[in-house]
Amino acid sequence: MSETPVVETGAHGAATPAAAVPLLEVRDLVTHYPVRRGLTEAVARRPRRRVHAVDGVSFSLEQGEMMALVGESGCGKTSTVQTILGMVKATSGSVTLNGTDIVGLPDRKMRPLRRTAAMVYQDPYESLDPRFRVRQTVEEPMLVHGIGGSRKERELLVVGALEQAGLRPAQMYLDRHPHELSGGQRQRVAIATALVLGPKLLLADEPVSMLDVSVRAGVLSLLDGLRREADMGILMITHDLSTAAHFADKIAVMYLGRIVEQGSAREVVRNPQHPYTRALLSVVPKRDPREASKPQILAGETPDPIDVPSGCRFHPRCPVAVDRCRAEDPALRAPAGNDHIVACHLV
Ligand code: SF4
Repeated sequence: MSETPVVETGAHGAATPAAAVPLLEVRDLVTHYPVRRGLTEAVARRPRRRVHAVDGVSFSLEQGEMMALVGESGCGKTSTVQTILGMVKATSGSVTLNGTDIVGLPDRKMRPLRRTAAMVYQDPYESLDPRFRVRQTVEEPMLVHGIGGSRKERELLVVGALEQAGLRPAQMYLDRHPHELSGGQRQRVAIATALVLGPKLLLADEPVSMLDVSVRAGVLSLLDGLRREADMGILMITHDLSTAAHFADKIAVMYLGRIVEQGSAREVVRNPQHPYTRALLSVVPKRDPREASKPQILAGETPDPIDVPSGCRFHPRCPVAVDRCRAEDPALRAPAGNDHIVACHLV
């Protein structure tokens, strides 16, 4: 396929040196939600239908690495993260955290591992309890996990987490309620709440999409600093390819429950191969208006994840589909023999 518009990439395009055991390894992860049958369907004994939220997703993440899961709403990004954290039961596949397969682990064994992986939610207006002061919000996870020592020791940890999240001096914020904070400060409190347990992995679900543009860069730089200075692995969900290109080491593009393209951020953004990735990139605003290319608007809506199209699931919207695409499901392959993999018959 031919060259596509170039988007700025960050300085972090280089791959992180591989460790013996990845911090997070996801293999063939499948999450299907059963759809409740209506009376007529039950009487007619029609087979139970399923929402194909995640349909065979594989990737790995090292410590100190940031990976972006990119795609439109409903493509399965959030379900992937919820399954990794055990909030949703996996239908099949494995999720290995620091060498331990956590799919199906009983809650008693899962509990200590939950401190290894923490979640940052999209909406800081909803993720903080409006009745709690900042000190209570950040202390709460320690109380749930029964760690942190005495009250005084816990307060020191709360102060440390707030300062690590960029709220300095922390004492200024300890006794505030969420309504006394700006959107950016609320998201930093939410991040401090995740950091207070000392996680190795941070899963951030659209961490800046609800924030004003003026504070987004600050929160993204904070996440970038955490992976660099605290050696944390970060899996960031975003629908914004330009954010992913600037901050992530790796990008995985998802469509209808599958990864359709994956590789280093630099490769995926500068040399996109899948028609869906190319369409997403065509609508990313360019810094230089003279570089602006014609946006490629995809026809139709994302198909119903209950009735997944035959063959390549992107074929009803693909501008270059051929007959083979309707019949044959393309596997992820590495056309250049490197870690840039694509699921498309024409690549
Ligand atoms: Fe388009 Fe066919 Fe490639 Fe699917 S396999 S992305 S339908 S060209």
